[in-house]
Amino acid sequence: MSGVKLSNVRKSFGAHDVIKDVSLEVPKGEFGVFVGPSGCGKSTLLRMIAGLEESSGGRIEIGGRDVTQVEPAKRGVAMVFQSYALYPHLSVAENMGFSLRLARAPRHEREEKVREAARILQLTDHLDKKPSALSGGQRQRVAIGRAIVREPDVFLFDEPLSNLDAELRVQMRLELTRLHNQIGATMIYVTHDQVEAMTLADDIFVLKGGHVMQAGRPLALYDDPDNRFVAGFIGSPA
Ligand code: ADP
Ligand code: MG
Repeated sequence: MSGVKLSNVRKSFGAHDVIKDVSLEVPKGEFGVFVGPSGCGKSTLLRMIAGLEESSGGRIEIGGRDVTQVEPAKRGVAMVFQSYALYPHLSVAENMGFSLRLARAPRHEREEKVREAARILQLTDHLDKKPSALSGGQRQRVAIGRAIVREPDVFLFDEPLSNLDAELRVQMRLELTRLHNQIGATMIYVTHDQVEAMTLADDIFVLKGGHVMQAGRPLALYDDPDNRFVAGFIGSPA
């Protein structure tokens, strides 16, 4: 298991400074949430941790190892996206085991990991079904299952619930908390939804315009916001 540490991380797209000197740490086994309005740089930051986006400066450490120049597959992270495409012609089990097949893992090992992920996600009775036969929430669980079978040290979630309806989002939030308690991996979760952030996070990082405005435990931010932006965003009446 590994924590994630960013030191003075920056990202520019041309002349546009999207991430400006971000330093933060999500200790190992914790659930960290990056929250902020659309366009503040949440996805860019997450993609840099995953190695899908090159940083323009600074240092990214996972489990104490400098991974700033390490390729994505060797960082020990798995990412779950907002819009997840499942393979329609493959079963749930085949969808979940796909990356292991690409990595040429032996069949018995693949099957065992898929079975374990299905157990955690309550998909055991659906393993032979095609994605089209699943509900929206079940499909999202399959997408999370694809990450679980890879046994990453760090899970990265980019607004994974934002395409689900309100009722299902509440249910999936509870499931994510349960998942975190059960497997204990470090998780970093990106959202623009304050309620989601408050209910899921061990630590919240409030972002605005490529800066961390404030970081801390949800209740600490709620009770003692540093500034009006955080107060307004987290919803305290300060
Ligand atoms: P968020 O996820 O918080 O909504 P993003 O990280 O997606 O924000 O984007 C932050 C800013 O970076 C936005 O202004 C966006 O337009 C810009 N941006 C993101 N990706 C690129 C890219 N590949 N090229 C140019 N600009 C980008
Ligand atoms: Mg985004």
